[in-house]
Amino acid sequence: MTAEVRSPVGSLRAVVEARRLFDGRSFVEPARVVIQAGLVEAVGADVTEPTTVDLGDVTLLPGLVDCHQHLVFDGVGTFEEQVSGRTDEELGARARMLARRALEGGVTTLRDLGDRNFVTLGLRGDSDLPTILCAGPPITAVQGHCWFLGGECADRDALLAAVRERAERGCDVVKVMATGGVGSPTTPAWRSQFSAEDLRVIVEEAHRLGLPVAAHCHGEQGISDSIDAGVDTIEHFTFLNEALDPKPDPKLLERLARSGIALSATFGECSDGPPPPPMIVALRPAVQAAQAVVRQLGGKIVVGTDAGITTAKPHDVAPHAIHDLISIGMSPVEALAAMTSGGADALGLPGKGRLTPGADADMIAVDGDPRSDPAAVARIARVWRAGVLVNLTPKPPRDRMKAVGTRSMPPGRRRGHRDGSV
Ligand SMILES: [Zn+2]
Repeated sequence: MTAEVRSPVGSLRAVVEARRLFDGRSFVEPARVVIQAGLVEAVGADVTEPTTVDLGDVTLLPGLVDCHQHLVFDGVGTFEEQVSGRTDEELGARARMLARRALEGGVTTLRDLGDRNFVTLGLRGDSDLPTILCAGPPITAVQGHCWFLGGECADRDALLAAVRERAERGCDVVKVMATGGVGSPTTPAWRSQFSAEDLRVIVEEAHRLGLPVAAHCHGEQGISDSIDAGVDTIEHFTFLNEALDPKPDPKLLERLARSGIALSATFGECSDGPPPPPMIVALRPAVQAAQAVVRQLGGKIVVGTDAGITTAKPHDVAPHAIHDLISIGMSPVEALAAMTSGGADALGLPGKGRLTPGADADMIAVDGDPRSDPAAVARIARVWRAGVLVNLTPKPPRDRMKAVGTRSMPPGRRRGHRDGSV
């Protein structure tokens, strides 16, 4: 590996070369990119200058986009146990540590879809962390799914007030729990928590205030009502029913695919981490079969890992989603696009998730070729955030799969760098 070029943040100009380069849509040749002042200036055949950094046998990709995380959850215990008894300061510190873990795992943009007391909002704009979009506490029914995060609403007036509060506090998105949730003792996942009219009121007010709406939906009714309400992203879309035997109406699958709404699939799981809950494992084939139909019909499927909810889903789990995307019928290249530019578009961030002129130079280098070896995406060799090389904490690969917060610092295979330019 050639010597690194370092210079003050934002002033660097570097021509980076690797064996392969994916620009967010396709692989381009030659695999060269010019980074200037935190942005991508030129790519591929448009690069005319000599290479300044040759990374050798790696693939350059845009940084990954995770459309659904929970930075206040560390995965240990029930959702409620994960936050109860913690002060806002403690949750804020945890969120910062977990966001950093996401960045070091290649996730340069993430959307937090549910914190407590708006503690994640202060993390935005920190160059040591990914780009973060925040929802604050999710809007839910009284004693509904994740009620303990503080977003309970008893009636229509409360819904309007909740949307307005999120706009006033500067949230980036409104999250609504349209149905109950898996792992929630209070409301079955398939059951709707709000009427179609409630959802319409939320969306209308949020859009009036310039905010998109992300709807958490498991049951078919909640999915259908969320489409009608005009939400901006649908999370999960698992088609769960009372019999725990998802057999969605084909017409609903068609409506979902044709809606143009970005569909954030709860993909990604560590291959050697703790097993997911048995119910999830049992339901997965039926859920993914339905999602495969949606994809085949042209649905816009992106990745929202729900990182944080269990120890199988640490905040750097997003690279593993490639296997789920392939299992619903995507080619590796389509999957990479869903994980980068697709996710960025779903979040309304056209300057993210791509290595094209003018885009933010959020970039990762992975060992191997994801086209023939999809697992290569999880072998993160380097991460750049706005053109600045991120210091990757040295740790052995297996340690990455253990419970969040159990970092150790023995000699690892990963290369350590100081944060600095390319
Ligand atoms: Zn979630």
